[in-house]
Amino acid sequence: MARVLVVEDDQFVRSALIRHLTDASHTVRSVGTALEALREVAQVGFDVVILDLGLPDLDGAEALKMLRGITDVPVIIATARDDEAEIVRLLNDGADDYLTKPFSVEHLSARMAAVLRRSRAAGTAAAPSRELRVGGLSVDPLRRRAELDGVQLDLTRREFDLLAFLAGRPGEVVARRELLAEVWQQSYGDDQTIDVHLSWLRRKLGETAASPRYLHTLRGVGVKLEPPR
Ligand code: CA
Repeated sequence: MARVLVVEDDQFVRSALIRHLTDASHTVRSVGTALEALREVAQVGFDVVILDLGLPDLDGAEALKMLRGITDVPVIIATARDDEAEIVRLLNDGADDYLTKPFSVEHLSARMAAVLRRSRAAGTAAAPSRELRVGGLSVDPLRRRAELDGVQLDLTRREFDLLAFLAGRPGEVVARRELLAEVWQQSYGDDQTIDVHLSWLRRKLGETAASPRYLHTLRGVGVKLEPPR
């Protein structure tokens, strides 16, 4: 059971979502504009926000940024746009997952359950306090800070989790399935999710897949973080 905020201007989609979520014994509030959504999250605690990208007042990406400015609540983007670049950008801007419309209620339930599991695990798991060092990279799980050669990296929540997990096992090839399970707390999922975050992390480390320094992808096997040779 979760407290869900549905941000959706389409009355038909909104009613269907509310009905389904209520049937699944979630507590649901719903609004039709981004500004109302911002007001809601500022006043009420939610466990998850389902955010439609095509809202009448603010662009969805803009709305997400403003949401992130005030809360860390998990956000699932619901988009009719099958636009990979946009989805990548939103995941990087702090969306936790996305659904492409039209989606089934089963699909929504699965995504919601995964997002809730992750955020609850993150809230309860004891953070390792040890600072991790790999070459010029240092990762401080307790303060959630990472530096490369003394310069602080500006990472999203998920990029940090990914980097911290890999830094805890330097030189070891970590299977994609394990990353999904440990970083995303997900037993299913598409490789694209991992690829998207890896490519953004790689960019922030100032390297490319073609000439990696720290982050090595072994096609079909997994990912390895190690100091540059
Ligand atoms: Ca809409």
